[in-house]
Amino acid sequence: MNNVVVGRFAPTPSGRMHAGNVFAALMAWLGTRSAGGRMVLRIEDLDPRAHNPEATRLLLDDLRWLGLDWDEGPYYQSQRGNIYSEAIRSLESKGLIYPCFCTRAELHAASAPHASDGTPVYAGTCKGLSQAEVARRSLVRPPALRLRVPKANEALGVIEFDDLVYGPQREVLCSECGDFLVQRSDGVIAYQLAVVVDDALMGVTQVVRGHDLLSSSSRQIYLQKLLGYDQPRYAHVPLLVTPEGRRLSKRDRDLDLGVIRERDGGPERLLGQLASLVGLAQEGEPIDAARLVDRFAWDKVRACARKSCVVDA
Ligand code: GLU
Repeated sequence: MNNVVVGRFAPTPSGRMHAGNVFAALMAWLGTRSAGGRMVLRIEDLDPRAHNPEATRLLLDDLRWLGLDWDEGPYYQSQRGNIYSEAIRSLESKGLIYPCFCTRAELHAASAPHASDGTPVYAGTCKGLSQAEVARRSLVRPPALRLRVPKANEALGVIEFDDLVYGPQREVLCSECGDFLVQRSDGVIAYQLAVVVDDALMGVTQVVRGHDLLSSSSRQIYLQKLLGYDQPRYAHVPLLVTPEGRRLSKRDRDLDLGVIRERDGGPERLLGQLASLVGLAQEGEPIDAARLVDRFAWDKVRACARKSCVVDA
């Protein structure tokens, strides 16, 4: 099975997919299918507050409607808690995890600079707590679990990788990210941990997703190294913006698939529009997903990655 590309869809069922989610899914699917690879589908429903069976049902239905098929899954993260806990125990046994009692307000009040994704760099407040102190505070509120990152001059202190679209990346974990959460205080496993464990156990070799997750990749590579996993290739794809320059989000329903399906009937118009953003289709050319496979090349995505990708309904 060596050298077989394994790609994945990893949607969070927090609402209907919008054109930007479809674009990322299309790139993931084309990146895999054009290499003759296999697709895995994983539903990222870790947070019980975001648990929404109807949204999940619509997601699967929308992917089928788009013609973006998969070979394995769906897996549900909500059913894989024991697997994640085992990974956390393995990190704990290496002395890399500590309990953190800081509240959200305390974290944001800390004067540390913000990491590239907007979360504050953790100031290390709970790093040196004694066992007695941990026991005392645990009576008041359950702790979150945090993973230590090395100093810049220690092993794994600087993470470097080559993104298939955005090229060479480099992050100094301690100054640009800080010790990060692997489990929240309400027991919910953190995205970074779950995604790394799942990608490894599902044999994923190629991670394609939106540019907003580029800054998560170094944390994920760090976790892969600690857990002894292989590192997948990363390809981050541009986020789509409206003609006014606003990033598409699930909250703004203007370009969601409910509206688009009702308007267009079939997926060809939307797929053509998205494909034309990266030079895979002529502007205004309707096309189905299968016909894009032979036209796909990462070079074409790369060539478009630095300009903004505007979609109009
Ligand atoms: N579940 C994430 C999302 O829907 C994607 C995670 C990933 O691709 O690593 O935004």
